[in-house]
Amino acid sequence: MSKSPTKYIFVTGGVTSSLGKGIISASLGKLLTERGYSVTIQKLDPYINVDPGTMNPYEHGECFVTDDGAETDLDLGHYERFLNHGTSQANNVTTGRIYQTVIQKERKGDYLGKTVQIIPHITDEIKRRIQILGSTKEFDFVITEIGGTVGDIEALPYIEAVRQLKWELEKDALFIHLTLVPFLAAAGELKTKPTQHSVKTLLESGIQPDILVCRTEHSINSEIKRKIAQFCNVERDAVIESLDVSTIYEVPLLMQKEGLDKIVIKKLGLTHKTEAKLKKWKKFLNGLQNPKQEITIGLVGKYIELKDAYKSISEAIIHAGAKNSCKVNIEWLHAEKINTNNVKQKLSKLKGIIVAPGFGDRGMEGKITAIKYIRENSIPFFGICLGMQSAVIEYARNVLGLRNANSTEMDSKTSTPVIDLMNEQKEVTKKGGTMRLGTYDCYLKNNSNAYNAYKNNNIKERHRHRFEFNNKYKNDLEKAGLIATGINKNKNLVEIIEIAQHPWFVGVQFHPEFKSTVDNPHPLFCGFIDACINNK
Ligand code: GLN
Repeated sequence: MSKSPTKYIFVTGGVTSSLGKGIISASLGKLLTERGYSVTIQKLDPYINVDPGTMNPYEHGECFVTDDGAETDLDLGHYERFLNHGTSQANNVTTGRIYQTVIQKERKGDYLGKTVQIIPHITDEIKRRIQILGSTKEFDFVITEIGGTVGDIEALPYIEAVRQLKWELEKDALFIHLTLVPFLAAAGELKTKPTQHSVKTLLESGIQPDILVCRTEHSINSEIKRKIAQFCNVERDAVIESLDVSTIYEVPLLMQKEGLDKIVIKKLGLTHKTEAKLKKWKKFLNGLQNPKQEITIGLVGKYIELKDAYKSISEAIIHAGAKNSCKVNIEWLHAEKINTNNVKQKLSKLKGIIVAPGFGDRGMEGKITAIKYIRENSIPFFGICLGMQSAVIEYARNVLGLRNANSTEMDSKTSTPVIDLMNEQKEVTKKGGTMRLGTYDCYLKNNSNAYNAYKNNNIKERHRHRFEFNNKYKNDLEKAGLIATGINKNKNLVEIIEIAQHPWFVGVQFHPEFKSTVDNPHPLFCGFIDACINNK
């Protein structure tokens, strides 16, 4: 039997941003995956940066890194955590990337003789980028989430491109539109008008949504659903309620109850495969919602005003906690506000502490002060990227007595560069996409905390950095007790450091948080949370 053609689902949003398009897309993807389909999810971002790698976390939240080294939108993290399947460069497309490609082609002469325009050249490039994922024949479904809100000037070429694609693909594509059904307290009523207006805006661009997902604080009764269906021209069972919930991990179950996957399958003319069972998912949710114990850990960072800056870390903590039926509260600690006078008061009650990734010297001394206290008081420690580098600096200064130890990122003239620019970075001048990015091998030494967590000598993890452990100081640091337990053998790079004499002190140069999923909580986060639970 020949495989039916890839189905394309376009997800747009109206009324306001932050309705949860990413979570709805990921939840639908999960339900279809569990029915036995192969699914991938793509995000189209209407900004002019080529990727979010050059943006401050305050602007954009975390920059998520894929196996192939793409710096992407944090929604891709949700896609991976829900689907338990990797994404790639092709899963995140920005306006910057689209224009860059079109302009490069123009310079090459590919359009020789023609005027290059938004329609058809930009829209064609958008269509091509959407179909790249389908053309591999690997996926039954490509779900494409269009960033922003309908009516935004930036989003217009995307809306036009998917309108054309729907016309070309006919029965193999459909539109899901997310809207808000607000509750007006003064009137005591849910209001459908914003949804009606939002659909009207889509219709002006020639798009009739097939399914409406209505975000709401209060349950939408059948009369309101009927009204929305009638005025927005969609079938009654294509009006899906998306009620606020306490955790994003409830959303797939909610969408299943509302029949989102069922209506998608029906509308795309597919034969029904068995309903999603979500066995592993439900087990995870049970651990999350019925915890047998509760602990509080600290997260030291400098972007903590915006929790989205540490999205994958906080989700990885949730995964590892649920696995242990343990509720893990996070105390967010501003690195700049930690000093020798208050460090004890801020950290002493915490069961364990993560020192976060980051760039630049702001907050660096606070991180080092925190790590000294953590090390001396045997508190479980997990340092990620800059967090690991900070631990090396702290050890060099306070145990080896190298008072000037630093990273050349913080002090380019330091006499003691225990963390230094990587060789391959020395000639790099451009900022976009030039870090050491994506997956690299790492070899783990037996009898280390890392090995005990992974139960494997050979692992692969994702990176995003320019600086590294300076091997010149390796011997001295190891003799003093800071052991390199993970090594990239190809380049002889130290990827993990540990203190053997400490209950759990692990610093990693890579970003384990990017690989934690609901179905596979990350071994290092599980190891760390275990150590925190055991820290009496
Ligand atoms: N700023 C450090 C470097 O570039 C660490 C990066 C990070 O934490 N992602 O090496």
